Amino acid sequence: MNVALITGINGQDGSYMAELLLEKNYQVHGIIRRASNFNTKRIDHILTKIKLHYGDVTDMGNILQIISTVKPTEIYNFAAMSHVKVSFEIEQYTFQTNTLGVLNILQVVKLLGVDKTTKIYQASTSEMYGNSTDGNTLLNEDSVMDPVSPYGISKLAAHLICHYYRDAYSMFIVSSILLNHESERRGSTFVTKKIADYVGKYFHNNHIEPLQIGNLESRRDWGYAKDYVYGIWQMMQHDTPDNYVLATGETHSVREFIELAFHQIHIEIEWKGMRGSNTEYGIDTNSKKILVQVNDKYYRPIDIDTLIGDPSKAKHNLNWKSTVSFPDLVQIMTSHALKEFSFN
Ligand code: NAP
Ligand code: GDP
Repeated sequence: MNVALITGINGQDGSYMAELLLEKNYQVHGIIRRASNFNTKRIDHILTKIKLHYGDVTDMGNILQIISTVKPTEIYNFAAMSHVKVSFEIEQYTFQTNTLGVLNILQVVKLLGVDKTTKIYQASTSEMYGNSTDGNTLLNEDSVMDPVSPYGISKLAAHLICHYYRDAYSMFIVSSILLNHESERRGSTFVTKKIADYVGKYFHNNHIEPLQIGNLESRRDWGYAKDYVYGIWQMMQHDTPDNYVLATGETHSVREFIELAFHQIHIEIEWKGMRGSNTEYGIDTNSKKILVQVNDKYYRPIDIDTLIGDPSKAKHNLNWKSTVSFPDLVQIMTSHALKEFSFN
């Protein structure tokens, strides 16, 4: 029987992966951190079917204990301090989790002598590219990587450590460069979920303060998380371990996301103030009410202007493709928020 160990199982991707592996009859184990309150909302519906272990990827002894007990055939490492803006504030912790945490897993698998029987997946990110291109070139597995955030640098270091372990010790290690992927389970401080949630709340209570937002011009290649998790599982089933970019091949701005999200509740946004500056704001074309306000607080010390990925290799080798369009993604997330906040 296939036995999977998922770190970050209560996060967006970890929860979808747990569901997928259960469907495929895996025995599923997951690592969760102790929190002051339950934070298993994304996996509550499958709690009776999976086995959870308290742990932290920064604690090598704990990882050793879990891996030697569970004896996984596949390890999916989704654990990360995954928020780019926050990584500027907690730099050391970002590296401890995102870089040394990965090294802990690799070292433990090798130390236990299970390196030839355990496949390992690492979640790398398009943040590793930084502003290495002009924004028109599709980024692929061989594109230059020049990250501009503690998050991106920590993930690139982990990515390179994975290469080194794969080459030096012939281990089955897959690393995928994931472009942004979102869903109704996305963390609420990421921009897509923040916008969708605002629209959901506004629909049920139009007295709330305007949405506070940062860089409206920023462009991302936004796909649907479930598609990406399926691609990750496919990579792990391929004969040879490799790196793969997962992306839609399209890029859209934060501004476009906001416009489409409000469109779901029949509000059209008109932009006022100086475009691209912190004086900009968005009003409801009909009521003239201010609904969106640019706020310096949500800018980063340095940001990536545009990300757009080239999923050709994943398409060719895995027959993978992104199935949810940008308008559909906005619709899925906004509809979910409309339901979620109808009870509040
Ligand atoms: P997420 O929702 O933020 O989930 C991250 C998970 O990691 C959470 O379950 C978190 O647990 C756990 N975690 C954090 N620090 C940990 C530690 N020290 N030890 C053990 N667990 C820890 O992230 P996601 O969106 O699912 O992303 C999954 C992975 O893909 C991450 O590695 C992320 O960096 C990478 N990635 C994501 C995207 C994207 O667009 N979503 C793009 C590229 C790469 P708590 O709930 O306790 O915090
Ligand atoms: P990231 O691409 O992994 O950093 O995902 P995010 O969803 O956090 O941010 C995507 C882009 O949206 C970045 O360029 C941010 O600067 C931009 N952005 C603009 N306003 C906001 C905001 O209020 N919150 C977040 N998280 N990002 C914002």
